[in-house]
Amino acid sequence: DVTATKGNEFEDYFLKRELLMGIYEKGFERPSPIQEESIPIALTGSDILARAKNGTGKTAAFCIPALEKIDQDKNVIQVVILVPTRELALQTSQVCKELGKHLQIQVMVTTGGTSLKDDIMRLYQPVHLLVGTPGRILDLAKKGVCILKDCSMLIMDEADKLLSPEFQPSIEQLIRFLSAKRQILMFSATFPVTVKDFKDRYLQKPYIINLMDELTLKGITQYYAFVEERQKVHCLNTLFSKLQINQSIIFCNSVNRVELLAKKITELGYSCFYIHAKMLQDHRNRVFHDFRNGACRNLVCTGWSIRKVWPSWISSEFDHLRGPL
Ligand code: ADP
Ligand code: MG
Repeated sequence: DVTATKGNEFEDYFLKRELLMGIYEKGFERPSPIQEESIPIALTGSDILARAKNGTGKTAAFCIPALEKIDQDKNVIQVVILVPTRELALQTSQVCKELGKHLQIQVMVTTGGTSLKDDIMRLYQPVHLLVGTPGRILDLAKKGVCILKDCSMLIMDEADKLLSPEFQPSIEQLIRFLSAKRQILMFSATFPVTVKDFKDRYLQKPYIINLMDELTLKGITQYYAFVEERQKVHCLNTLFSKLQINQSIIFCNSVNRVELLAKKITELGYSCFYIHAKMLQDHRNRVFHDFRNGACRNLVCTGWSIRKVWPSWISSEFDHLRGPL
């Protein structure tokens, strides 16, 4: 899903050298389709409403123009990225820091559920880019410690989730604190009516990008096997020995199953981590982080528990797993 369709190169966008270096060092060779569509438009200053499947590279599609537009010599907040969860805020700030590795751009994360005092203290330092959840940012703006009048770019990631009754009122209030010349970029995997309404009310001549149709599971062939309950582990063992699998994620539908299967896989001699809802969030984040860094080949988890550590990719893919997992 992240292969280019137009044959553009990151060089084509005339980005700052330091930003281009960060992009290549992150291992991105060419822009993905959503990046090809969004980056040049976002750089022109236009509002955007963009829709693309999960896992297609939306984060960099807005982080790259954001980092490009920030003037690091001006110590004011210039970009706000709104996300629905703390985990996503942390992941997004990480992407900004990696892409902006060679820039002197200060990124701050602020979300509910953490110390407000600490955030206030941190706002005494220069911040160029703020990533967080709407309620907390609004609190800080109302207190006058988070100055947003020079913020000319508002990004809403997972806009469908942000426009829930929980967040929408805060976002609408927050917009009033921004610079009058604000640009709004909305990214989402779905376009529910809440997103359309919001676009009509707040976006100015938005450029609409919808890559939903072309982006199915292109390049991925799916297989299934009917297996008797007692043959399942044996089947898995056969798959592991016959297929070249770099990393795998295995979903189970209960906490007990996760633990049991992880134990069996380890007994078979394969490295295996697991994540489930009875583990502390911090612990889950750590396990997932290590898995992504290749510390282990297999990860067993429940669909629900992984949503929290990997919301950007898994969430709507596995919506049918929602429930008492
Ligand atoms: P989305 O928000 O659309 O679900 P993400 O931004 O989380 O997707 O990106 C999914 C994965 O694709 C990430 O691991 C990211 O590093 C990778 N990725 C993004 N853009 C590119 C690119 N141009 N080339 C290679 N990998 C990319
Ligand atoms: Mg995402």
